[in-house]
Order: sequence, then C-alpha cells, then structure tokens
Amino acid sequence: MKLESFKGWRTFAEEKSIPLWQVVLDYEMHQKGRSAEEIWARLAQVYAVMRDAVESGLREPRQTFSGLVRDTGKKLLTPPIQVVSPEFSLLLAYATAAKETNACMGRVVAAPTAGASGILPGIYVFLEKHHSIPLQTIYEAMLIGAGVALIIEQKASIAGAVGGCQAETGTAAAMGAAGIVYALGGDIDQVFEAVALTIMNMLGLICDPVAGLVELPCVKRNGSAVVIAAAAAQMALAGDTAIIPVDEMVIAMGEVGAAMDTRFKETALGGTAATPTARAIAQKIYPDLKTLRHEDPAE
Ligand code: SF4
Repeated sequence: MKLESFKGWRTFAEEKSIPLWQVVLDYEMHQKGRSAEEIWARLAQVYAVMRDAVESGLREPRQTFSGLVRDTGKKLLTPPIQVVSPEFSLLLAYATAAKETNACMGRVVAAPTAGASGILPGIYVFLEKHHSIPLQTIYEAMLIGAGVALIIEQKASIAGAVGGCQAETGTAAAMGAAGIVYALGGDIDQVFEAVALTIMNMLGLICDPVAGLVELPCVKRNGSAVVIAAAAAQMALAGDTAIIPVDEMVIAMGEVGAAMDTRFKETALGGTAATPTARAIAQKIYPDLKTLRHEDPAE
C-alpha cells in the first residue's frame, strides 16, 4: 500500500477492515524493514522526547541569544487574565514551551519539522493529561499523524522554504487535529474532515522568520496552530464538514505554496521579517545584512 491519498488510505483500511493507524504501521514495517515491536518502542521513545520538550520548556528559563524568544510557555501557564478556559491556555502553554525548547537548542522531535516542533507535543501531552488518553492510543494517533504528513509531503509540501508556513505549522496542525479526533473516538470521516478543516483554515500562511531565525513568529504560530487544530477537531467531532474533500484541500495547499512569492518562503525578505522593527533586529544581529534585503522600489 502506497500512502498517496486520503481516499486510497481509507479504501485500503476499509477493504482490509483495519484501522487507519494499522495501514501506516504496515507501511513503516515494509519501508523500514522493522518489526511492529520495534516501531512501537520507537514511538514510545519519540513521545518521551516530546513530553520532555514540553515539561522542560515549562520548568526551565527559555530565552534565546537573540532575545526574540522569552518564556512564552511559562507566561501562558498562569495568565493574570483568563480569556479562554484554563485548559485551553495550557494547550497553548504546552505547544509554545516545546517550540521554545527547540529555539533554545534543546532536544525536540522535528515532526514534521523543527519549526513546527511544538504543535504535536502540545496536543499529545494535552490529550494525555487532560483527556486521560492512554499512551497506546497516543502512539496510534502518532501513526495517523505520520500518514497525514506522508500524503501532504507528496502532494504539497511540509517545508516552509517550499510552501510557506501553511506547509510547516499547517501540516503539524493537520496531523494533530487528526490525532485529537482519533483519540477522542471519531471515525475515519471525522479524522479526515479535521485534516481538511485545518488545511482550509491555515491556507496561505507565509513563512517569514525575523532575521531568518526560527523563533519569531514561529513560537507564536505553534501556539495559534494548536488552536486551529483543536477548532477543526471540535468541528469535525460535532458533525461539521469542510465540504471540500481532504485530497482536494491538499492539492489547494500545494497550489498556494507553488504560487507564493519567494519572499514568503523562509528567506526573511517579506511579511513579519520585512517590517521596520524586524529589519532593525536583523541588522543588529547581522551587521552585514544589507545584501540580503528585499529591494523595495518605494525606498
Ligand atoms: S514562519 Fe517559517 S520558519 Fe517559522 S514556523 Fe513558520 S514555516 Fe517554520
């Protein structure tokens, strides 16, 4: 079985009467030549690293050399004014803390990339702690997330430098949304609707890291991406649909990424990175940055 489309994934699972995660497990065993036991053990190791990235990010000071990242996760643990439910704040705290661990050169799982490495840990730790989801179910959700990323990688992209931030944090959010729906008892339709809804709501997001550092807006976007993933999962579990089939949304994501100007693909020449404040920050960090600046005819 080649994991090339959501339609094919569903058809294969239904014909064989196996769950979505089993299709990915079999694919991994075939591709990597590993036993199921080895893959489950590896998933446990990967999840332990994710959980540690969250916990250490909430426990230890998190500040990068540039100063662009500074304890976002910890601030969200105990906000002085609560806008959303305390649990929802914690989801944000977990995701941003794990991403800050990455920005501060700590150990993370680049799933699907380092830039988006807070989203899945935030979601899985939230599921474990606040929904009491058993670890085995979380590992199954991780396999489903891997299947989602495999398809997006082939039909669109998972890299900010190729498809913008929609490809990076958008893919991670789609993987996470699928995992939430699966872990909370959703069926195949609902899992795929959550992916479609997530892509639909992250479509067009550009990659514009200040000074080319994967810090700002990256940490904030890991926070907003878990919100979109949770919203998509909630809509799907409520019986709502994206109307547009998930495979078509992936093609749309690829089309948008291909049409995106190179300024918005990790070059730090557009968007947030091109604001006067961001340019001043970049200039301070790299005094010879002038050669990298986007030529603006208005200047
Ligand atoms: S802005 Fe770019 S570097 Fe930062 S998370 Fe998004 S895709 Fe990654």
